[in-house]
Amino acid sequence: MLGTGAGPTPKAGRQPTAAVLLHGGAAYVIDCGNGVGPQLVRAGVALKTMRAIFITHLHLDHVADFGTLVTQAWSQLRVPIKLTGPPPLARMSELYRELFSVDLNSRVAEEGRTPLGDLMHVQEITGAGDCYADDNVKVTCLPVPHGGIDYAFAYRFDCADRSVVFSGDTSLSLALADFAKGAHTLVHEAVFPPALHRLAPLGGAKLLDRIMGAHSAVEQAALVASRAGVAKLVLSPLAPADGVTDDEWIAAARTEYAGEVVVGRDLLEV
Ligand SMILES: [Zn+2]
Repeated sequence: MLGTGAGPTPKAGRQPTAAVLLHGGAAYVIDCGNGVGPQLVRAGVALKTMRAIFITHLHLDHVADFGTLVTQAWSQLRVPIKLTGPPPLARMSELYRELFSVDLNSRVAEEGRTPLGDLMHVQEITGAGDCYADDNVKVTCLPVPHGGIDYAFAYRFDCADRSVVFSGDTSLSLALADFAKGAHTLVHEAVFPPALHRLAPLGGAKLLDRIMGAHSAVEQAALVASRAGVAKLVLSPLAPADGVTDDEWIAAARTEYAGEVVVGRDLLEV
């Protein structure tokens, strides 16, 4: 877990959403909240082992650093990275390279680097299905409901010995429970409603309505884990990002789910 805090406003204790799945010496990044590159390095993940990046949706706290992460890994990349996410990720990738063209062009001209665009292979997804496969892992995606945004996806990683599902941001989705059936671990976003009133002064009732309409209470995340029959539920990203104890998160999840509950924490290895 690289970043476990929901929302774009910086938090002292949690980075915005990002995770990395490690298997067979390769790294697969799920979401690119601001700071994902430094968090990967702090986690001891060699940037050159990155094979693919999966963006669940285009809210800033999940996508802000997608281009910066590839740029930070650039000097170590020998083969292209595949980026998968909703449209207009391809256009965003072009615009990123235009935005930072002074830096990017100078490194190509002066250091002889491969143009960054040649190392960013973007695949846009708009529906459920297979979206990635290599010798390590097969990845499938499922649209999930997330308020008014056009596209939000969950991703399922099937490895030879284990399967892991990442919900991304989603309101309660029983389709997600079906999607996660047979998986070992479900990483699911979670909101702790009793603590949300602390956010009210920032945006009032409208913000609270938006949060609860687009996200999952921790009990709902637990219900999905229970229906899916997974062995382990990892809660991440969390809203609010602080002020709720691990015991409180776990007790709330326990009302709907009997399996192992792990409260997400930055740099926690699961
Ligand atoms: Zn979101």
